[in-house]
Amino acid sequence: MKIKSFNTAFLSIYIDRCDFGRGVFAARNISKGEVILTFTGKVISLTEVLTKAEKEAANPLQIDINTYIDIEEPGVIVNHHCHPNAGIVNTKTLIALTDISKGEEIFYDYSTTMSENLWTMVCGCSASNCRKIIKDFHYLPDSLKEQYLELGIVQNFIVREHNLNREVSLS
Ligand SMILES: [Zn+2]
Repeated sequence: MKIKSFNTAFLSIYIDRCDFGRGVFAARNISKGEVILTFTGKVISLTEVLTKAEKEAANPLQIDINTYIDIEEPGVIVNHHCHPNAGIVNTKTLIALTDISKGEEIFYDYSTTMSENLWTMVCGCSASNCRKIIKDFHYLPDSLKEQYLELGIVQNFIVREHNLNREVSLS
């Protein structure tokens, strides 16, 4: 059952039920590198995230140290996967990492946006490299970190932290 379709990115996505509740799916074939959607919502601080989380489910997208986007639909519906077919570039643009077929669910790796030591999530995705517990970027295996950095799908503030840590460990 289709719940809602969106007119963003030339009707390339729709929301539907999936194993994780609701998910975002490709409404047509999407090519590798194509923009799927842009995350939108109010920019809020960590304090606001925590206040919100006490009252209701909060699903913010971290975009800097202490800065988040309180993301709206459809972006907030995109699920995590340990072998994702999409990733975030330029802070809030979701692009396809591979060719995605019509009807396929769209996922990104939540760890590419997390550096706060506050939040973990149990993962039951189908990937053979499923990490089971999803944590901040710096907990990823080094090879996966490098792969994501090379793809340019890690939030800028995390790339800065990563480079700083690497300099410290080399000196
Ligand atoms: Zn997983």
